[in-house]
Amino acid sequence: MNQFFEAAARLGLIPPYLFKTIDEKKAEVKDRGVDIIDLGVGDPDLPTPLFIVKKMEEAIHDSETHRYPAYSGMNLFREAVARWYQGRFGVDLDPESEVLTLIGSKEGIAHLPLGINNPEDINLMTSPGYPVYQMGTLFAGAYCHFLPLTRENRFLPDLHAISPLVARDAKAFFFNYPNNPTAAVADKEFFARVVDFCREHQIVAVHDAAYTELAFDGFKPPSFLETPGAKEIGIEFHSLSKTYNMTGWRLGMAVGNREILSALGKIKSNIDSGVFNAIQIAGIAALDSDQSCVRENCAILQERRDLLVGGLKHLGYDVELPKATFYVWLATPPGFTSMGFTTHLLEAAGIVTIPGNGLGTPGEGYVRLALTVPKERMEEALARLARLG
Ligand SMILES: *Cc1c(COP(=O)(O)O)cnc(C)c1O
Repeated sequence: MNQFFEAAARLGLIPPYLFKTIDEKKAEVKDRGVDIIDLGVGDPDLPTPLFIVKKMEEAIHDSETHRYPAYSGMNLFREAVARWYQGRFGVDLDPESEVLTLIGSKEGIAHLPLGINNPEDINLMTSPGYPVYQMGTLFAGAYCHFLPLTRENRFLPDLHAISPLVARDAKAFFFNYPNNPTAAVADKEFFARVVDFCREHQIVAVHDAAYTELAFDGFKPPSFLETPGAKEIGIEFHSLSKTYNMTGWRLGMAVGNREILSALGKIKSNIDSGVFNAIQIAGIAALDSDQSCVRENCAILQERRDLLVGGLKHLGYDVELPKATFYVWLATPPGFTSMGFTTHLLEAAGIVTIPGNGLGTPGEGYVRLALTVPKERMEEALARLARLG
């Protein structure tokens, strides 16, 4: 090959993209004129609440916001995060040293390993899972050790199953509850076991809390930082993306242990220049609001959840009612792999889902559905499934 340019070897670390054939099939089905119902993407279809948009509009006219933001975030935003954590979780945070503003939590998760890992370190992470824990780890030259989430372990990793040699060489442990993609939730006992484990083996605990505000039936998912001792060994990533339907705005935060945050902050201050201040000002309005917009959002998602899961159960599918997140983790019917069932739903019913194994091998035998389409579309999806038999 006579190429003038060869990409970095690092890009060879990226695992094969399992969704390629699905993407191609989706395009093919669309070209046939099929009306596609996309239950694949984890991106809210509902708009950002108007008062947040209005606040941004106002802020953007203030030319002070047009200048470089502070690296670690506006003091006022970090104070709003600390207030919100105190009000929602009863967790005390020093805005100056225990809160860091992020360009969405994905950015912070991806950069964290550059600040804490040496080559050949091992990072533990649950699987199936959000792919960024793995990619951030690999780009930092460290290795991934996957902890399977299965129905048998209630989708909570078995920390006793980790071999002492792996635990010895492990530097960080990524976990995420309420969980994407399984919709599992963790209780405080699990978080306490994580603190004990990470303390014993000197492992940095990294909790991704993106979905704590999307919960149903009055359930209030805890923050990892509520756990005694958590702040001594860990941090938590959070985000305004899912809570306030703000995925496009790119605003998140890391909170907790100041040494770990300082390591992440050092990487960031040499790569990016922070979040547009007008966006942070809108974020303050969101965090300081009475949170009625979050309750309204959850009520809509709960109605969709009841409709979809109720309908699936009625059709004989093997599925549990999720307590949180906007995902439904559906076991594939007998005789179908994840990929096989995803393909079948797409070709025979025009319904897009995510094959569970695409998010990690232990996800085989499941597909992920997202509650990010209106009720009418869900009814249509259920009608098509009923016709499939
Ligand atoms: C959506 C999501 C995030 C949040 O991403 P942002 O970069 O803050 O938009 C983080 N973790 C998980 C597991 C998610 O699903």
